[in-house]
Amino acid sequence: MKKIMAVNAGSSSLKFQLLNMPMKGEGKEEEVLIEGLFERIGLDYAQITIKFKPDGINLVKETKRVDLRDHATAVKILIETLIAKGIVSSIDEIDGVGHRVVHGGENFKDSAIIDEAVIKEIERISDLAPLHNPANLIGIKAFRKILPNVVQVVVFDTSFHQTMPAESYMYAVPYEWYEKYGVRKYGFHGTSHKYVAMQAAKYLKRPLEELKLITAHIGNGGSLAAIKQGKCVDTSMGFTPLAGIPMGTRSGSIDPAIIEFIAKKENLDIHEITSILNKKSGYIGIYKESSDARDLRDAQEAGNQLADLVINMQNKSICDFISSYYGYMGGLDAIIFTAGIGEKSPQTREEICDRLSEAFGVYIDKELNKIKGEFLDLSLPHSKVKVLVIPTNEELMIALDVMRLGYGQTQI
Ligand code: ADP
Repeated sequence: MKKIMAVNAGSSSLKFQLLNMPMKGEGKEEEVLIEGLFERIGLDYAQITIKFKPDGINLVKETKRVDLRDHATAVKILIETLIAKGIVSSIDEIDGVGHRVVHGGENFKDSAIIDEAVIKEIERISDLAPLHNPANLIGIKAFRKILPNVVQVVVFDTSFHQTMPAESYMYAVPYEWYEKYGVRKYGFHGTSHKYVAMQAAKYLKRPLEELKLITAHIGNGGSLAAIKQGKCVDTSMGFTPLAGIPMGTRSGSIDPAIIEFIAKKENLDIHEITSILNKKSGYIGIYKESSDARDLRDAQEAGNQLADLVINMQNKSICDFISSYYGYMGGLDAIIFTAGIGEKSPQTREEICDRLSEAFGVYIDKELNKIKGEFLDLSLPHSKVKVLVIPTNEELMIALDVMRLGYGQTQI
């Protein structure tokens, strides 16, 4: 077994999971040893929350105030905590670290072992994700300082989508925008789309290379991917995560001419409008009271028409993408629901499958569909398309990539 740390660093936070990962032939399952979150790094009232099983059975959650000057301090406290809790006896027991990085641009078509050149390239493309990549890099640098001899890998949200053909990823705008600035569709949530696609192939007992899949990652943010023969051929998010379906706070794709129109009407600049499209649109833009799907469902049940409207808008948009990908791939073996809403909202799954049943012969077991947050095969025997619910696990996918690139272990 190898102890692998999966890390997701934000500008003031650091989420981690330490997994025990089996080597090929060991016949063991991977296991989460501890997971946690540092919050408010560099600010007052910083804290660490950890979840682990001191007796190997019962999960315990502990939250503690800590003085967190910077990310390096958080990593130092993290290592001390692992030792204090008996998760590792020394720092040398950590065999690898995997870091989530949001944007990999065009050059990272796969995860990569971190070296100076990789760090430089992530820095170079940082203007594609100015809020995220610099924060991810702070985490990488902090871990490299404390664990200089341990293999470290970067896993990008974008790289799984790098197999898209140009006809899918190009925008019909002046070509120089692509050449000079890299304006194209990149797609996001790639780690999740890849993980659930791999799990689906495993469950269906067919090689991924034979399958046509649509993965629907529907959480607070949401995107769909068309995966043909193991390769992403289209996805709904774009140059940024703003494109695609309406989401919790994001508009999804809109007519770009609206931006100039509203700029004039409301006397706003482009930055302010982009912020509204990212933070005050989608569920919250239409319903106003909340961006949480559970609140919208409660409101819908109580007869709120705006909650009902935006839920239907999202459902329609999801079905538009599924229909278009079905046609583009020339068929479909399975639809996979994942992320918060995809895993835990039976209503959303049922409504989407109902919309698809007449055209595509999608039929699900509505009783079974009531289960939340578990792996499910919802398809009825006569359904022409399989419908699966697969809980996503981005930390595990990151750890699997560390095992693949760092230790030559083939995946799943
Ligand atoms: P993020 O994009 O922030 O990672 P998640 O994948 O955690 O988002 O999904 C969050 C969304 O999932 C929220 O809209 C939340 O309301 C929704 N969700 C969580 N549990 C349920 C549930 N039991 N029923 C319906 N929606 C749920």
